[in-house]
Amino acid sequence: MTTLASRPAAKQHRPKNTPPSNFSSPVFDEVGLPSDPNNLYRQTVGSMLYAAQVMNLPNGFQLILAQPKNEIMVHFPVRMDDGSYRLFKGYRVQHNNALGPFKGGLRFHPDVHLDDVKSLSFLMTMKCSLAGLPYGGGKGGIKVDPRKHSSGEMERIVRRFTTAIAHNIGPDYDIPAPDVGSSAQHMAWIADTYSFLSEATGKNANAVITGKPVESGGSLGREKATGQGVVDTLEIMLPELGLDISHITFSVLGYGNVGSWAGRILAAKGGKMTAVADHTGFLKNEKGIDTVALADHVAKTGGVRGFTGATSCTKEDFYKTKVDVFVPAALEQMVQEEEARMLNCIVVAEGANAPTTPAGERVLLERGIEVLPAILCNAGGVTVSYFEWVQNLTFHSWELDRVDRELNKHMVDAANRTKAARQKYDCDLRTAAYIAALERLRKVYELRGIFP
Ligand code: NAD
Repeated sequence: MTTLASRPAAKQHRPKNTPPSNFSSPVFDEVGLPSDPNNLYRQTVGSMLYAAQVMNLPNGFQLILAQPKNEIMVHFPVRMDDGSYRLFKGYRVQHNNALGPFKGGLRFHPDVHLDDVKSLSFLMTMKCSLAGLPYGGGKGGIKVDPRKHSSGEMERIVRRFTTAIAHNIGPDYDIPAPDVGSSAQHMAWIADTYSFLSEATGKNANAVITGKPVESGGSLGREKATGQGVVDTLEIMLPELGLDISHITFSVLGYGNVGSWAGRILAAKGGKMTAVADHTGFLKNEKGIDTVALADHVAKTGGVRGFTGATSCTKEDFYKTKVDVFVPAALEQMVQEEEARMLNCIVVAEGANAPTTPAGERVLLERGIEVLPAILCNAGGVTVSYFEWVQNLTFHSWELDRVDRELNKHMVDAANRTKAARQKYDCDLRTAAYIAALERLRKVYELRGIFP
């Protein structure tokens, strides 16, 4: 495999400041974080606290950012198609709104729990700050498996959840969006329910949520935005690793919204996808997998299994496939130590949120594998969500060209600020991305202070 040793000499610098896999901070105890080192919230906040230590961020700011502002949990009954009632659990966590309204997706998944949602809302605060957006961070979800419900049941679940959290969201307060398991159709039902419940009507009520269908107030380019942002980030970062995006090989973990769009856009630029995996199986084809045909197959069958343009392989085969770029685009904590040791790539481009554990990242860094962190790499989705919100509030529709151009500006700026922080603090890219995000938040808190 291509290793750090075989890359151009200029790329062989190993940063001085990289987080240890067992990083600990006094802030953990001060704000009462769980003691389990495998806890996702402890891990994600830990990466930020490490960056805060490197840049000497005052303790008070670290405390504010180490816990969310509001944690809302709701239970609501829904009538099933057979006439029975079921009780569902939903969440909305509002991490921070120093930079603007809370913003972040809604996950519909049977394993959703409070720590996930807290972690994801925290990441949104950091991502919006890094991407230069006037938003804070939020996240929510419903503990439900959308695949196990009819369209009618899902509509009642989504509308009833919206009713339960309606007083806690709003176009100028908290603006949800899609995430794993939720779709543009769900967003349209949320906008409609909210407009019915609130005094706001029409387009401005539409601004309560983004990721809507284009016909119903959505933005052109939103569906592919996160995958597009992953590719924009790679385009900016690959040249310094001696890679040309039009000739790369890549593999993708998770072929849903983010993974399939990243795959299709990379392939359109000349890249070759040689391995792919999702919850249904692992596939490989050294000659290249047709990314568009696979997306059609997944849309029809719900997963990559059974696709005839590649052969099924083991998990080990999938991770050990030699590629230039590996794109994790499924769920959190999927690249642990074991996977990090198997990976045979030059770059990990985090399409998913928090896919790499601190222990996994330690292995990747020691092996000279570059990690493009999620708060940079997958910021395209929230950036185009911001454009959708601006279009709703100003009663305008932007052309796709304009959406792509403006998105690229935000991605380039975020990548450049990350690179500048890496240079200044001699650190890895995740630490650098957090530092760039924290610098913006620090300035705001220094200017506005804390009430009273
Ligand atoms: P999605 O529901 O469209 O796709 C999720 C994918 O993960 C599917 O392909 C599924 O098969 C796969 N998956 C689930 N469990 C798996 C398992 N155990 N093993 C392997 N694969 C598994 O969701 P998405 O919107 O593409 O989101 C993917 C990731 O990207 C999440 O971490 C999400 O938070 C993040 N993200 C999404 C957006 C967005 O705009 N949709 C924006 C930023 C970040």
